[in-house]
Amino acid sequence: MTRKLIDIDNLNGFEIPRDIAVCPCCGSGLYITEIPECEIDEDGSLIPVHLHLECLGEPDEDDEAWDEWDASHSRMPYVYWLPVELRVLEWLRKSFDFVSSREEQEKLERWI
Ligand SMILES: [Zn+2]
Repeated sequence: MTRKLIDIDNLNGFEIPRDIAVCPCCGSGLYITEIPECEIDEDGSLIPVHLHLECLGEPDEDDEAWDEWDASHSRMPYVYWLPVELRVLEWLRKSFDFVSSREEQEKLERWI
């Protein structure tokens, strides 16, 4: 089985399968907005150590439901969100390889 490659600089709202994790506050699906930190493995591959998840159930900001949504989703992030993040990180590391198109671009520019 070949592992899919994920470009951490170009996530395009990468969605998490519902059987891996759902929003701990409302049960909606989740997507990754950002992978801000990676370690570099011995073989040079990237290992994500942090990620930002966002809930797919977020209403429009001018929707009156937004305040309630925001309040329920920002309560005790370490209690609700941290375990979900850790589970998603583990799944990502097991299932995918990672590249950084920005870093590749910078490497290329250094060579020119
Ligand atoms: Zn939610």
